[in-house]
Amino acid sequence: MPELPEVEVTRRGIDAPLRGAHVLSARLGKPLRWPLGVTVDTMVGATVGPVLRRGKYLWLPLAARGAEQRDGGLLMHLGMSGSLALLARAPAPGAHDHFDLVTSRGTLRLNDPRRFGAVVWSPAIDALPAAALLQRLGPEPFDAALTSERFHAALHQRRTPIKAALLGGELVVGAGNIYACEALFQAGIHPGLRCNRISRPRAARLLAALRDTLSRALDAGGSTLRDFTDVHGASGAFQSEAAVYGRAGLACQRCSAPVRRAVQAQRSTYFCAVCQKR
Ligand SMILES: [Zn+2]
Repeated sequence: MPELPEVEVTRRGIDAPLRGAHVLSARLGKPLRWPLGVTVDTMVGATVGPVLRRGKYLWLPLAARGAEQRDGGLLMHLGMSGSLALLARAPAPGAHDHFDLVTSRGTLRLNDPRRFGAVVWSPAIDALPAAALLQRLGPEPFDAALTSERFHAALHQRRTPIKAALLGGELVVGAGNIYACEALFQAGIHPGLRCNRISRPRAARLLAALRDTLSRALDAGGSTLRDFTDVHGASGAFQSEAAVYGRAGLACQRCSAPVRRAVQAQRSTYFCAVCQKR
């Protein structure tokens, strides 16, 4: 599944080349998770603005060509299996290519075999329907406004196990399974510990560990992905340096005890019962 680092690597890959491009045409394939909401002609002639990311969503602003057209943009999500490619010369769409935005700088193509991804038109990122899809997202992990004090205050209001709370995305977005496991190991926090039992210093350590983990994944993605369309590259490259994720039964790199695997909120959790304390 594309995680936040993959989506950010994708954003960096398409932002500069698409900025200022003119939309020539668009094409829809099979239905995605949510409908586009307008006819594809709505965006013809529009100019692409700076591509933004919020959580695992990308926002592609489209400025109207004139008074007869509406300003708006596309909110895009890669779902379980989606990837975006910017193609200088697009071949005929394949069976899993479900959206094309043909521009003066190439074709932005969404390939999504499982079709849990989405491309949704919205008049603005803070207007419906985009606002409704984004409203439940927690703060961005690298937002300076997310201080360790605020993170601790948010933890203090929850009694759920910390691992499940991280995956839920309301405390902070971007802590997918691999990153949540690694950050909890780095911070020495047991995944089953209830959020409201986490002290202020441990909350600060966890936030720092999460930022460090995501930064390393971004570096791994940025350095190994020549072609940003390989959306699984960032997690894949990062996974080879994981300390606990996917290492059940292998020796903990810190204390040599075997790494354990447990199922929590229907997801595999990897942890060291010696290094990670309740
Ligand atoms: Zn250990």
